[in-house]
Amino acid sequence: MMEISANVQAIAYLVSAILFILALKGLTHPASARRGNYLAMAGMAIAIVATLMGSEVRSYGFILAGVVVGGVIGTVIAMRIQMTAMPQLVAALHSFVGMAAVLVAIGTFLNKQADGLLNGVLMGELSAGIIIGAITFSGSVIAFGKLQGIISGRPVQFKGQHLLNALLAIATIGFAVHFALTESTVSLAIMTLLAFILGFTLIIPIGGADMPVIVSMLNSYSGWAAAATGFTLQNNLLIIVGALVGFSGAILSLIMCRAMNRSIFNVVFGGFGTAAVEGDGVADAAQKGVKSAAIEDAIYWMEDANKVIIIPGYGMAVAQAQHSMKELMEQLEARGVEVKFAIHPVAGRMPGHMNVLLAEADIPYENVVEMDEINPEFATADVVLVVGANDVVNPAAKDDPTSPIYGMPVLDAGKAHHVFVIKRSMRPGYSGIENRLYYQDNTSLIFGDAKDVSEGMVNQLKGAAH
Ligand code: NDP
Repeated sequence: MMEISANVQAIAYLVSAILFILALKGLTHPASARRGNYLAMAGMAIAIVATLMGSEVRSYGFILAGVVVGGVIGTVIAMRIQMTAMPQLVAALHSFVGMAAVLVAIGTFLNKQADGLLNGVLMGELSAGIIIGAITFSGSVIAFGKLQGIISGRPVQFKGQHLLNALLAIATIGFAVHFALTESTVSLAIMTLLAFILGFTLIIPIGGADMPVIVSMLNSYSGWAAAATGFTLQNNLLIIVGALVGFSGAILSLIMCRAMNRSIFNVVFGGFGTAAVEGDGVADAAQKGVKSAAIEDAIYWMEDANKVIIIPGYGMAVAQAQHSMKELMEQLEARGVEVKFAIHPVAGRMPGHMNVLLAEADIPYENVVEMDEINPEFATADVVLVVGANDVVNPAAKDDPTSPIYGMPVLDAGKAHHVFVIKRSMRPGYSGIENRLYYQDNTSLIFGDAKDVSEGMVNQLKGAAH
């Protein structure tokens, strides 16, 4: 391959960096997100070509093998992955970044040691890369296991865990300092092992409804790990991209904490969502004083309504009911009903989960309204249709100081004249707590799969139109 000079490479990297920043800007709004993705892809293509044409590359054999193997695996995963499994895929990908940072740093150390090129600054960078990378790796593996259901998603807490983490952190830093001063491979090995253990003990106590914040925090760590690798390899673009990922992950974590009204400190050290009520079936509903309704009841109130607000949640994603939501919206709009979709920032299992699904079904952005904007409108809505959402409409967050989710901002669904909730059973949502919305006088539950029920609604409206 033709070789380019360092200056040309630097300019190409600058263009890539600008494209990445514009891409992030594009990703701030659903309407421009697609363009943002294209800009990022263009930036990455330029970065890869410029790196491959750089003078550092000695042979293409291994690189080509890596691209082929990684490319095939990546393509297969991307084609097969279910939307609901995206959070664990993201967690798995973060673990790769973490492991890459560890391996690159160890490889660089061994190379430079052999050439006698180690110095204090480099040793500091290498230690930082290894520690952040190792924590990112094992933390992400645990997050993957929890989200995939391989290990319990609940917070696992034990006595003295903060003390253990503090001791582990101090020991890791101690061995890092010794490694930097003496180049001891034994210290390198112990430091690496301790950092792997620290990632494990930091993430294992966290669970339940805090997982989204943790995935986004690990995203941030993976950025810092990449930036550290950039310093090690003296690659400016990697430093810039790592910093962009590091900061955007941190900002997203803070936005999500704000959406749950909790501090990042509380999320990382709190342990949340332990109380689980298991397996209550439909039969329990009547016993518990919950009203159940048929599809016809909901249609009766919806087709003559002025305003219907639909609240999608994780259950809509599981059922893949977004396309029938679009049809339902069209049927109701044809009858002069104003239809809006209310989005809670942490509805579903990853940030923007609902927006992505509604966009996939071509539901216009102007019908999709964020929580702060829609909350004052619930009191004027004739019908609220909750589609597989639970925690994000739980009034306990506002009026029950003893509830674990007290203080989390929620959608004021219960203020509408009629509330219909589509879900399959009386099981609780992700945080494992009961929802008092279901016991309100104006609420009725329609038991069933979100897709089946919403298709039933659409069919009934279509039938009535003929
Ligand atoms: P919840 O998990 O609170 O509730 C989902 C509801 O959907 C359940 O009540 C379930 O009831 C129902 N459901 C599941 N499958 C179906 C189906 N096929 N058809 C109909 N209903 C179904 O979801 P929310 O979206 O309300 O809240 C999200 C929760 O997840 C929050 O606690 C949030 O903090 C947490 N979280 C958010 C992440 C994010 O980044 N957005 C990531 C990880 C967690 P049933 O089983 O009876 O059908």
